[in-house]
Amino acid sequence: MDRNFTIKQVSIFVSFLILLINIIVLAVLFFLNKIDLTYQSVILAIFVSGLISYFTIRVLLENYILSKIKLIYQIIGKSKTNDQTKEIDKFTTLEMVGEEVSEWADDKEKQIQSFKELEDYRKNYVGTISHELKTPLFTVQGFVHTLLEGGLYDEKVNMKYLQRAMNNLDRLKFIVDDLELINKLESGKVYLEIANFDVKKLVEEVFLDMENHLKETGSVLKINPEADKAYVVQGDRENIRQVLHNLIVNSIKYGKENGSIEVSFFDLDDTVLVEVSDDGIGIGKEHINHVFDRFYRVDPSRSRAQGGSGLGLSIVKHIIEAHKQAINIRSNVGEGTTFGFTLKKI
Ligand code: ADP
Repeated sequence: MDRNFTIKQVSIFVSFLILLINIIVLAVLFFLNKIDLTYQSVILAIFVSGLISYFTIRVLLENYILSKIKLIYQIIGKSKTNDQTKEIDKFTTLEMVGEEVSEWADDKEKQIQSFKELEDYRKNYVGTISHELKTPLFTVQGFVHTLLEGGLYDEKVNMKYLQRAMNNLDRLKFIVDDLELINKLESGKVYLEIANFDVKKLVEEVFLDMENHLKETGSVLKINPEADKAYVVQGDRENIRQVLHNLIVNSIKYGKENGSIEVSFFDLDDTVLVEVSDDGIGIGKEHINHVFDRFYRVDPSRSRAQGGSGLGLSIVKHIIEAHKQAINIRSNVGEGTTFGFTLKKI
């Protein structure tokens, strides 16, 4: 039998066969004068028996199939709703089962797709991390080997090599710290200590930590002169410090020599918008949507030369999203970049 026949079609077909047999039997009995019925009552009997056999066959078939697929239905129901008591009852029809099974199949298809994506992502992620760690690790290894092979006693190079090894170890620690933080942020293990604070004051504190970075580029940091009041917001002060730190360090790193970096504040309805603007190299349109991705760098060699882990903006985005706020970016190549994020106003 064709697998695509519906229960209705099978019922019609079988009842038609039964009907045919009925007709033959009745016709034979009628013509042999074995039954004493009128012509009309024979037709009525045929019609009624056809209907009865159709509905009987249909109900029997449905019940039979339902009883066979009961276990599958229960398993699917449990996996869909976690409802351990999911059972086929007398109101369950095959159509309902069919719908649930195809919904379940769609869900499973989506799940498989997302597992595949996750698997690809995991492979890429592991590859990228090992690549990131390899560079400083091999450099340290190289310096230590040279020192062990006699460099240790060479006054001209020993301190220099030790210092370089140390710089690379610092870099390794920096990458591992960033990875650890991002991991915590992604697995929701960072608990925000929400408090009210003046974000303008926090920016001034972050400016004070930038002395070393500024020495190299001669850039100037300033707060927009129109910001002549306190901007009290709600958030985790230390996490927002990290956000400001990453954005301001970036604006120095990717800013121009003796460039100018400005932080502005705008009062919106329920939020304060904080913007960090620089007049540096800018970011091309094709990169804009990716700069918040982990390990994404517009210019990898420049980023690494500046000691970047490629995780700074990803951390920034996670922290802002953990505050249920938004971050955006505007940039023009050769003109500069502005990062803006909101914080809840009190
Ligand atoms: P990195 O450690 O490389 O600085 P980030 O996640 O902080 O990593 O930034 C990702 C990339 O975005 C950087 O490599 C850089 O190419 C680009 N970028 C970030 N901030 C700026 C900026 N202010 N101006 C221009 N490019 C920037």
